Amino acid sequence: MTDYQHHWKDGSPIHLPLGKIVCIGRNYAEHARELNNPIPDEPLLFIKPATSAMHITRPLNPPRDRGSVHFETELAVLIGRPLCNASEAEARDAILGYGLALDLTLRDVQSQLKENGHPWERAKAFDGACPLSPFVASEALAKDHLTFTLDINGQRRQTGDTRNMLTPTLALISHISQHFSLLPGDVILTGTPAGVGELESGQVLSLELEDALFVETTVV
Ligand code: ZN
Repeated sequence: MTDYQHHWKDGSPIHLPLGKIVCIGRNYAEHARELNNPIPDEPLLFIKPATSAMHITRPLNPPRDRGSVHFETELAVLIGRPLCNASEAEARDAILGYGLALDLTLRDVQSQLKENGHPWERAKAFDGACPLSPFVASEALAKDHLTFTLDINGQRRQTGDTRNMLTPTLALISHISQHFSLLPGDVILTGTPAGVGELESGQVLSLELEDALFVETTVV
């Protein structure tokens, strides 16, 4: 079970409940290509439950008996206001903070589910499937694009630049809110850039968002 709670970068708690984590698949063309997936016509959405969240600095200990476990490094957006049929301007005003997340994925399980046309929860919703970093206040990152990186054992593995998103953050949040409500404390994962790969025991993962956030974690 999770004892996850949102935090600011300085360690102070954010008193908002995590209701759900809304994710988008294939939001970077190069990542869609590396998994031989077609680029969708409209955002491909799925949800990770609150029980999948964990503090990213805790050691990662995903299930080992269900095939390969992949890391996907993603910009995470913390929602601070209710959103329903929101415009992009309303979406912007509702962003409380930015952080980083790992959308951990049981890749073999997901491939089987995809083949059968089934939903992805068994591959992406397990306990611990969503390590989340602390958040940086959105005002501190008021730029027209954000970059983030993942290093494993000191080697660069993923580089994200929000300019390369097929559906940019504000458009994505607005789109999501046309289909279901977002509430304060909900988190949006904005998709992974190319470079995903397998988690292995003993790896040290270092994630960086601009020069505003740096977190490190290890794999059990
Ligand atoms: Zn993802």
